[in-house]
Amino acid sequence: MWIGRLIGYILIAVLGGKFARSVGGGGDALWHKFPAAKVYLFRRLVPKWAIGQAFGDLIFLRTDFQRDRATITHELVHVEQWHRHGWQFAFRYLLASFRAGIKHGWQHAYRQNKFEVEAYAREHEV
Ligand SMILES: [Zn+2]
Repeated sequence: MWIGRLIGYILIAVLGGKFARSVGGGGDALWHKFPAAKVYLFRRLVPKWAIGQAFGDLIFLRTDFQRDRATITHELVHVEQWHRHGWQFAFRYLLASFRAGIKHGWQHAYRQNKFEVEAYAREHEV
């Protein structure tokens, strides 16, 4: 999805792309579905608690999680969600966090976001 890719490349440009490279692993079925998906490894993402983040076909992943199949599959589910919703996904995701925060309390806004619920539920798919 071009807008996600654009956000991703801007982030690489801002954060510096030297410490990024692509990897495979995890999400075997989903890699076949999204052959253009790429993983970029970062020593640390901002904010610090973040492990991975997908922008379109680009997955940013903390280096210490590069062998973590469940995490990679989780991020590939987000790639699928970007494909499903197109550029609207960024807004839908924020809206879903807002809804989850109102419904379940703000400390659960991330984990109860319907897109995260799906990604966590499917992260053991291979
Ligand atoms: Zn997620």
